[in-house]
Amino acid sequence: MRRFVLTSLLGLTAIVPASAQSASPAASSPILLRPARVFDGVSDGSREGLVVLIDGDRIKAIGSATDITVGKDARIIDLPGLTLLPGLIDAHSHVLLHPYNEASWDDQVLHEPLGMRVARATVHLRQTLLAGFTTLRDLGTEGAGYADVGLKRAVEAGVIPGPRLLVTTRAIVGKGSYGPKGFVPEMDIIQGAEEAGNADELVKVVRDQISRGADWIKVYADYRWGPNGETRPAFTQEELRRAVEVAESSGRHVVVHASSPEAIRRAVEAGVVNVEHGDGATAETFALMASRGVVFGPTLAAGDAVTRYRGWRRGAESDPPRIAEKRASFKLALASGVSFLNSSDVGVFTHGENYRELELLVDYGMTPLQAVRTATSGTARGLHLQESLGAVKPGLLADLIAVDGDPTSDITATQRVRFVMKGGTVFRVPADGANPRTPDHPR
Ligand SMILES: [Zn+2]
Repeated sequence: MRRFVLTSLLGLTAIVPASAQSASPAASSPILLRPARVFDGVSDGSREGLVVLIDGDRIKAIGSATDITVGKDARIIDLPGLTLLPGLIDAHSHVLLHPYNEASWDDQVLHEPLGMRVARATVHLRQTLLAGFTTLRDLGTEGAGYADVGLKRAVEAGVIPGPRLLVTTRAIVGKGSYGPKGFVPEMDIIQGAEEAGNADELVKVVRDQISRGADWIKVYADYRWGPNGETRPAFTQEELRRAVEVAESSGRHVVVHASSPEAIRRAVEAGVVNVEHGDGATAETFALMASRGVVFGPTLAAGDAVTRYRGWRRGAESDPPRIAEKRASFKLALASGVSFLNSSDVGVFTHGENYRELELLVDYGMTPLQAVRTATSGTARGLHLQESLGAVKPGLLADLIAVDGDPTSDITATQRVRFVMKGGTVFRVPADGANPRTPDHPR
């Protein structure tokens, strides 16, 4: 693994291999982090007076400064005034999309060449990591083939900086349900996801995507394909069950895009482990999900962004129906006892602004502590990564960030990321204690 450090070149922040930096420490030096306070991802708040020792790519110890001693070879990083916490996790990204107010989804799928989309994605991944998101689950390339598999390899090989990636490749849709739509019926048009027309095809596509590198299987359980463009279930319960059976047989899980109560019900009965969006879900739907341990990704930031692109001024104007309904359904979810993922659907909005989901989780009814716990240990558990990520605990991977302020009482602190470490490698350091966000870190 190549190690990278930040440097400043011509006013732009760049990340270069540590070997190019004369003052860089040996890769094997332990690192002692001395923040003002630590939120471990699990507890009921942050604690002062703790230091964290990193050895290689793992957290070695957490304790009081007097209990933890280090040798002369250790590198000490002071993080005064900052809260150290686990790297944030976003369970719903599209790194191959860029915001819809820059180019519509149709235009991105139909008019942007693959090379251009991959070039953009490399920038998105860097922005995301520097914003403190050290793990992403990317839920579909939206017409960009298997590019996510290559991007994941590039990050792992140290070719480009980026978060850890869990990928789904093309994702799966029912034939005729997805887009782009509206062309002459004689034309076969490229689709934003891979189509399956029956249960056998669905099973075949699941196996095929696994063979090409999918870590999760993403299925659109409903979409806007009703006679009047309304949202309708895209697969039968039996079709979904067959897909889940094959995916689970391989040790992978199925996540569905679903908004309608009927599609969610079918998906849960079919054995999926995660429902994303859920905008139309009822109290009964959430109760069913909670009783089966199906985790819920609310994607609040996507709906918020799309509504704002249509002219809504959040804060200055009252909630339009779509936002009011989402607020109401989120309250039902909170009351149901269902477990949440931090799932933003970033790509619809600007990469590196993934914190918007955390802000909205609080705005819609969570406490800051609940939101930041969701984005760390909660999402790690929901993605079955709790043995390696999501907490500041000895033995876990050293994915750690530090923010200005205490996110367990003020969620806006997650916008003020000053330090980023992934797998023991430092990607961002505070600039002499001053605000480093601008101008050397434009978003
Ligand atoms: Zn999405």
